[in-house]
Amino acid sequence: MMSSAKQGGPVQPSVSVWRPLSGDEIKVTGGIWAQKQQLNAGAILRHCESWMERIGWTGNFDRAAAGTIDGAHAGIEFVDSEVYKLLEAMAWELGRAYSADLDHRFRALVDRVAAAQEADGYLHTSFGRPGQRPRYSDLESGHELYCFGHLFQAAVARLRTGHDDRLPQVARRLADHVSDQFGPAGRVAVCGHPEIEMALVELARATGEQRYLELARLFVERRGTGTLAAHSFGQEYFQDDIPVREATTLRGHAVRALYLACGALDVATETGDDELSAAVRRQWASGVSRRTYITGGVGSHHQDEAYGDDFELPADRAYAETCAGIASVMLSWRLLLATGEDKYADLIERTLLNNVLASPRVDGRAFYYTNTLHQRTPGLVPDEDQLVHRAESGLRAPWFEVSCCPTNVSRTLASVSLYFATASDDGIQLHQYGDYRISTELAAGAVVLQVSSDYPAGGPVSVTVIDAPGRELTLRFRMPAWARGRATLSEPPTVKTARFAEVRRVFRPGETVTVTFPDEARATYPDPRIDAARGTFAVERGPLVLALESPDLPSAWSVNEISADPHSIAVEGGGAAIDVYRHKPSEEEWPYYDGPGTGASERARARLIPYHQWANRGPSTMRAWLPLVQGNG
Ligand SMILES: [Zn+2]
Repeated sequence: MMSSAKQGGPVQPSVSVWRPLSGDEIKVTGGIWAQKQQLNAGAILRHCESWMERIGWTGNFDRAAAGTIDGAHAGIEFVDSEVYKLLEAMAWELGRAYSADLDHRFRALVDRVAAAQEADGYLHTSFGRPGQRPRYSDLESGHELYCFGHLFQAAVARLRTGHDDRLPQVARRLADHVSDQFGPAGRVAVCGHPEIEMALVELARATGEQRYLELARLFVERRGTGTLAAHSFGQEYFQDDIPVREATTLRGHAVRALYLACGALDVATETGDDELSAAVRRQWASGVSRRTYITGGVGSHHQDEAYGDDFELPADRAYAETCAGIASVMLSWRLLLATGEDKYADLIERTLLNNVLASPRVDGRAFYYTNTLHQRTPGLVPDEDQLVHRAESGLRAPWFEVSCCPTNVSRTLASVSLYFATASDDGIQLHQYGDYRISTELAAGAVVLQVSSDYPAGGPVSVTVIDAPGRELTLRFRMPAWARGRATLSEPPTVKTARFAEVRRVFRPGETVTVTFPDEARATYPDPRIDAARGTFAVERGPLVLALESPDLPSAWSVNEISADPHSIAVEGGGAAIDVYRHKPSEEEWPYYDGPGTGASERARARLIPYHQWANRGPSTMRAWLPLVQGNG
């Protein structure tokens, strides 16, 4: 039987404004998220398993256990982490929708991992065995502690779905080993890739072992004190340039920066460190206002997968790694729980729907690693049996040499409902809209709600009360920033601000509260400091960023030679339609002129589709920012 005390979501702070729900308390029941969770269960999990089996990443554990790994390790040194993220995805999925087949596959994989654990708890397939590099000999690039962090998060998923069995046992032995090695009496060092910090805090929360929290605190405090050797991209690359509490913005490698911020906030929350918490909030605010793409994606430097300078956000060089988007969601969720501020839920919505959802192909067998906002040349169709380099953005690829994103997408989809709503003693807070059921026990009594909608497509969101105590409850609705204060409720709210509305009363079973959002497509203009997007606009509909893709243009037109008229936008299908103009200067002409703009020659009506759906119709070109047509109309 499950132990309910341990259940919950990926993040379970001991102190929070609202209480996160567990997988038993909130389930997706329809709409786009049901489709994506089905895709994950039916295709993505298997895809990840079969790829890692075929190319030997899972077999690394067998060879390590058998003593034959010397010279036979498959993949780069941190591929253990992909197996762990797959285990985490499987654990959440088993909690969401149990299947005996998946349970068997999960347990078999855990057994193979466990067999490779050494007598003192250490567990890594790339280091420490005869013929391999010594343990902890390359903390800058070896990713040992990073891999451990993903194992801990997988174990936490197992615990939070009610099972204290073999995987959590392996994780405790490993965490005890790491505490001995790097704890107060151990070596003063950190991992080049943050990740273990937040994982240790969560393992402490899930097991009650305070040593893990103390170790996380030490790792956060040591960061920025120069324990890592010089990196060719500079110490900012792995956030070792300045201490976390002194940093003013998110910088360097984007996934590392965001994972570190998650861990720092977790430590701050558990230790009551208000200064550290304020530092993370400051970094989030600066990063979001100056270094984030309209899709919520982050990172504009390909070479070091890093944040660029403030407002350095070129569409055609957007790196916007899927994992960075997921990391951003993880950070915003922690901040939402810690502060109750709706701006964090706004960014979660934007990033999930426009960055993270863009990654998996409609069949779940190929992924984007980078998420460009402007594809200038049609991508090549990838070989479905070959590894590809991570930074290719033309078409989604089946697997990568560094394949962090597919398993990250999988664990996120399996647990995505846990980011949708929270509870308090006498109320429920709806942060994300969709189609899902909440069934939970509050101090005020049992509450069951059915949230029904086609969101993010248009139409109202209705919340039907299935069960409620005969006492006053507060239903709290986020008013998305994109709705600009024009969302309306079916009854007068008790409290209403630009950011949220509350209805507080006694609810009876069968009653429904409906929220209606403006259903319109709108032009959005970039801050002029974003030089690379100046003179352009994007089109958004509800929470979705739309894109112009070449199959929706007249044949022979390219997205690279068009401008568009923001006054011509109209809702159409699941996206919008717009007037576009073709500019076709002679091919050999010097592309600089003695006046602004070139005349438009032809006009056409084109369809805009949700950005996350692009590149599902074969090789194409695409752009999200549309140049403003000049002197036309
Ligand atoms: Zn990734």
